[in-house]
Amino acid sequence: MTPNLLILGGTTEATRLARAVSEAGLKAVVSLAGRVERPARQPLPLRIGGFGGIDGLSRYLTDNSVTHLVDATHPFAAQMSRNAIAAAARVNVPVAALSRPAWAPQPGDDWQHVDSIKGAVRALDRPVARVMLAVGRMHLEAFAPNRQHFYLLRLVDPPAQKLPFPRAEVVVSRGPFTEEDDRRLIQQHRIDLVVSKNSGGTGAYAKIAAARSLRLPVLMIGRPDLPERRELVSPQQVLDWVVHSGTDLGV
Ligand code: NAP
Repeated sequence: MTPNLLILGGTTEATRLARAVSEAGLKAVVSLAGRVERPARQPLPLRIGGFGGIDGLSRYLTDNSVTHLVDATHPFAAQMSRNAIAAAARVNVPVAALSRPAWAPQPGDDWQHVDSIKGAVRALDRPVARVMLAVGRMHLEAFAPNRQHFYLLRLVDPPAQKLPFPRAEVVVSRGPFTEEDDRRLIQQHRIDLVVSKNSGGTGAYAKIAAARSLRLPVLMIGRPDLPERRELVSPQQVLDWVVHSGTDLGV
């Protein structure tokens, strides 16, 4: 059967995969949630917006004769990942995740681990600080209880709503960022704590390296748990899986 992929995207890794898939001449569509105003250009056809839960995604897979589903969403996009596993199982389409290993602390890192956004909010119930809050636009509201802090936010689009805390500054930028850029940003705003999701990958790591070099603590938010799934770590592994699925790697 000629491969026909659906790539759940919205990450640098997904865009890299799309490039590799396009260069390999495979048929594929990239799916985005539609959260950002100007999504990164994709070298493959694009569809935008939710599918309508597990039912909607199952229907999409069947109606479009998708042969392989690749979940290349962000490690914190847990709902989409759970739906992908369930829908693929329902309509018997092989599914794999393009995963990025979580960051691990390096010598010189000063991390406090919390297991969720809620855990980070609890940890911020402390005396006033200047916080770089790198959790993305969707989660800002959760931090409303700790209004005492100054927050430095970096967002892909300007915030659509009033921020839930009185003292904040927004830097609108898509990245990628260098360690030097982030060191400068952190120093300029006299930040004394960085809050970050453990996203893994290279795109968001600059602030972690910058915090290490400035000896600043990082509140590191652990990843949501997901059901067991096939995890691949590079575009090449995905291409190999697509070519071999049904044979040596199995479906
Ligand atoms: P989520 O909470 O797991 O997903 C919520 C719903 O949004 C899903 O059930 C699905 O709606 C829709 N959705 C999510 N990703 C989609 C995709 N690639 N294509 C079509 N529909 C999608 O997801 P999220 O955390 O809001 O992330 C949304 C997007 O932003 C993802 O593409 C993700 O890769 C990207 N992103 C997320 C983060 C993060 O920290 N969460 C960071 C960087 C980029 P239906 O149920 O209607 O299908």
